[in-house]
Amino acid sequence: MILIVEDELAIAEPLQYALRAEGLVNEHCVLGRQVVPRVRAGGVALVVLDVGLPDGSGFDVCRELRTFSDVPVIFLTARADVVDRVLGLELGADDYMCKPFSPRELVARVRARLRRTHAAPPTPAPAPWTVRGELAIDLEGHRIRFREQILDLTRYEYTLLAALLARPGAILSRAQLMARGWDSDADSADRTVDTHIKTLRAKLRSAGADKELIRTHRGLGYALEP
Ligand code: CA
Repeated sequence: MILIVEDELAIAEPLQYALRAEGLVNEHCVLGRQVVPRVRAGGVALVVLDVGLPDGSGFDVCRELRTFSDVPVIFLTARADVVDRVLGLELGADDYMCKPFSPRELVARVRARLRRTHAAPPTPAPAPWTVRGELAIDLEGHRIRFREQILDLTRYEYTLLAALLARPGAILSRAQLMARGWDSDADSADRTVDTHIKTLRAKLRSAGADKELIRTHRGLGYALEP
């Protein structure tokens, strides 16, 4: 729902009509003090806010809105001066229109604004890092970091270290480690694992690891320092 806050009916009524014609549900109120309770009540997708209201300034209304809401605001201002526009935008307005304007143009701006709101990417969730000592793994992003540094790993290195990280302290045989990662014949399997473990260790060292994080268990396999 679009909330129109405007004390001049000669402006509000054609605007309501133009919005309705475009299928945009709207409500109209005249006073600034009606705005915050109406937005708090929910369902307001955008506010068209006159700057000069009978009970005060639209800027003050916007300032109060911004303490609890990101609802898009388009200001209607009678004064075309730059100060007004800058102040409005600094207060968190998304757009403004100078009177007189055509209702049709405002409807187009409302539509553009609503599209941007819907198209806006959701705030990215914090990366889902699972921390194991100085190492941390992001399973979704296939990333492993040591301290704060994300390691530049090949797919095999990542798979090996991820397998070790899944069970810190557990000794995983080369065959088990291979099974996680890739197909290869048994002969080259051991050497392949050893090779990647070697490059992994080198990368961990150059990332600042001062002790061996991947321990060799002779005849058994490898384990991550628990
Ligand atoms: Ca007015």
